[in-house]
Amino acid sequence: MEVSFKNEIEQLRLGDGESFHGEGILAITKALLQSGVAYIGGYQGAPVSHLLDVMVQAKSLVSELGVHVEACSNEASAAAMLGASIHYPVRGAVTWKSIVGTNVAADALANLASPGVTGGVLMVIGEDYGEGASVVQERTHAYALKSTLLLLDPRPELATMVDMVEHAFAMSEASNMPAMMELRIRACHVRGSFTCRDNRRPPVSALAPMTEPGQFDYGRLAHPPSTFRHEKLKIDERLPAARRYIVEHGLNELHEGTHEDVGIIVQGGIAPALLRSLQQFGLADAFGRSDLPLLVLNVTYPLVPEQVAAFAEGKRAVLVVEEGSPEYIEQEIATHLRRRDLQTALHGKDMLPAAGELNTEAIMGGLLPFIERHLPQVDTQAVATMLAATRARRSSAAARLDAALPARPPGFCIGCPERPVFSAIKLAQQELGPLHIAADIGCHSFATFEPFSLGHSILGYGMSLASRAGVSPMMQRRVLSIMGDGGFWHNGLLTGVQSALFNRDDAVLLIFKNGYTSATGTQDIISTPGQRAKAQAGDKLASLTATDRTIEDTLAGLGVQWLRTVHSYRVAAMRDTLREAMTTPFPGLKVIIAEGECQLERQRRVRPWLAGLLARGERVVRVKYGVDEDVCNGDHACMRLSGCPTLTLKDNPDPLKVDPVATVIDGCVGCGLCGENAHAATLCPSFYRAEVVQNPRWHERAMDAVRGLMLRLLQPA
Ligand code: SF4
Ligand code: SF4
Repeated sequence: MEVSFKNEIEQLRLGDGESFHGEGILAITKALLQSGVAYIGGYQGAPVSHLLDVMVQAKSLVSELGVHVEACSNEASAAAMLGASIHYPVRGAVTWKSIVGTNVAADALANLASPGVTGGVLMVIGEDYGEGASVVQERTHAYALKSTLLLLDPRPELATMVDMVEHAFAMSEASNMPAMMELRIRACHVRGSFTCRDNRRPPVSALAPMTEPGQFDYGRLAHPPSTFRHEKLKIDERLPAARRYIVEHGLNELHEGTHEDVGIIVQGGIAPALLRSLQQFGLADAFGRSDLPLLVLNVTYPLVPEQVAAFAEGKRAVLVVEEGSPEYIEQEIATHLRRRDLQTALHGKDMLPAAGELNTEAIMGGLLPFIERHLPQVDTQAVATMLAATRARRSSAAARLDAALPARPPGFCIGCPERPVFSAIKLAQQELGPLHIAADIGCHSFATFEPFSLGHSILGYGMSLASRAGVSPMMQRRVLSIMGDGGFWHNGLLTGVQSALFNRDDAVLLIFKNGYTSATGTQDIISTPGQRAKAQAGDKLASLTATDRTIEDTLAGLGVQWLRTVHSYRVAAMRDTLREAMTTPFPGLKVIIAEGECQLERQRRVRPWLAGLLARGERVVRVKYGVDEDVCNGDHACMRLSGCPTLTLKDNPDPLKVDPVATVIDGCVGCGLCGENAHAATLCPSFYRAEVVQNPRWHERAMDAVRGLMLRLLQPA
């Protein structure tokens, strides 16, 4: 990974009394170090990648503190890492993106939660829900319920979030329950400040290792008959201990209000949106003071029944503001009120949207009927008018824009090595007929958008090959499975490749070997160029230009006999290899490796290097592609095969032609795909390749002068 986190690492060094200014996720990272964490692991994914990315680069800081940092191969290995805290009084933290990451980690989580932990455990979960989310819309809350895990949802204000990290460890130790902290996208990126404490060196660490392993204790194994006792411990001891901690340390915030006979219970992460919504009704001020009593749940599991009942008691009505579905919190509160025979009217999803993000507009829409029914003295006309006007404006804009504007889905970076492979798949399908394509998670999933529209299903990260197992036997034509190298190491090797080999499946797998888990922020993986050299000889000798064969060697070692590596920019060669894989009489697993480095990482490395050459006055050659507008016939086949944002349209300069011509705009990185496609698909000969020479040598200047002279002589004045 070429991105540097030098400034962030400096923030992590701040000491007692100093002010931290920055983003929420970095504040959480600092809070881990202040809490005396002994080990940190995880698997990258928005919106929490930053935590692990920063820690991986903060080598000197973590080694000074004795903190061990592990970039885990997937979320299951991160969750399993927390097993260190079952026996030993060491605090551990891991991070991943939820819900998908928690699904992957689920088995280890259940087996961690059953025996419980001695040292505090915290999972920092990126709750990728609502606007901007990139995964299926489900709630992490379900895991807290089923495995009896603490779930914190802190109010997104830096000092509160930092305090909650320290409380999460202490509460985990007091209750023996592992803790999860869910952070929405906005909580990760909210900016603010807090007063730091010194980083704490953990008492047991890489600097102060234990001399002996823990005593054998069958009761700490998630194995019957211990598991029967664990279940009782969860109910009889751990949950009560957690509830005691929540009350004694005031983790949930109780705000009094002037309208004492109604109240709102809200998840901590949603509290700012609620306050902003109340402000529109004139029921809160800009500083977050509410006229309605609020119970802000910074811990959403477990709830404290006595606390909830005390809040509801004496009130005519309570509204639960809870994001997503099902409404776990509301249902639990209803149970607690019913058991105590409290007759307070309870509202929630009967007024608020059952699904989707609770932004200010959605909350105002739920507050409106609540206030109209239970606070009729409050004037709601202004909000009602605003909401109606917003809805009308939105639907009229949608009607007009849908007709006027084409969709603009996300796509591959300019020069991405994956785009040419999808051009080749399109060409191969012209010969083979349409293929069933099992797609996967990763940058290559951009090919599900236009102009490729390739991919029938996405079942999970590294799951494409496994997901075709039920389709292949029932399909006359072979099925194509597509996976990235990140997905291959995350899950695909075992879930897909091993299974296909064991079952002697007739399957075709295409692996993008771009060198990084690019879609999550271009983190390094075991097959990143230079990793072997790093492992063998230290960072200084690592060669980032070396070709890594780890994937090929692994596949061959596992018994894959049909294996081809093709450079991803060679469109015709890739098309021919696809044709061969789809038609060869070889009956087993056929694997094509599409080799080409992630262009984003390549440009991050190449651009500063080129800038350095230019600054020193040295010769630099850049390749550019272009379209001869006199030759372009205007059918735009090149664009339908490529989708590169720098290959676009412009008005036809010929007044006798109406169709716009293709053009390559500034930004082309000269990847060569335009030329490859023109050749492989036998397109019109309008593309040309040019070399832009900066700081040319004397003979190049002379040649340029001669060429210029010839052109002037040959062209009419
Ligand atoms: S990040 Fe890399 S692999 Fe992903 S779209 Fe961009 S160039 Fe392609
Ligand atoms: S050569 Fe073509 S595909 Fe490659 S970056 Fe330039 S315009 Fe885009």
